Amino acid sequence: MSSRFHSAALTALFLIAWAAAQAAEVETPGEINRKAYELSREGQGALLRGEERAAYAKFIAAAELYRTIAEKFPDWNPMAVALGKAQAEASAVALRDKVFRLPEGWLRIGDDLAREGKRFAEGEALAGAVVKSQEDRYEVESFLVELTRDGPLLGARCGCPDFRYRGIKYGYPCQHIWAVVIKEKILE
Ligand SMILES: [Zn+2]
Repeated sequence: MSSRFHSAALTALFLIAWAAAQAAEVETPGEINRKAYELSREGQGALLRGEERAAYAKFIAAAELYRTIAEKFPDWNPMAVALGKAQAEASAVALRDKVFRLPEGWLRIGDDLAREGKRFAEGEALAGAVVKSQEDRYEVESFLVELTRDGPLLGARCGCPDFRYRGIKYGYPCQHIWAVVIKEKILE
């Protein structure tokens, strides 16, 4: 992972912590809403300057504040808060696939993977035999399964021929990756 990513991730964490601290100090939902709106505008500004990772961090922080209002003050302008939250989240998601990229040969693991079929069933049967050797490294039926992350993206790869020759080409996990995903409850 690049240091640029690390600094962006730290910026995002800082903004979320800052937003949470602000939300805790500020009494009124109107104040939180104003901060969220400012963060969204700063996100748009960063986007216009081509600072996509900074923009992503602002939108994530804005969405977090809107979520705080919805949770703590559910009766305060619920329509406007829901709209602001939806817009901030949509802006973040639109940026996510642009600014976070998995390296070549890694399959993105997300909720859009179809949890069915022969490989999934075999993965379920193999989940009990998964051995974690290191952080993000697993042995399944003598094949090495690895996980990697870039921001919110999670990727996996496996050394078996099924994944190397078919899975990565057609975008589906092999039974070994499924075994790890199921064992580690990654999609739950
Ligand atoms: Zn495999």
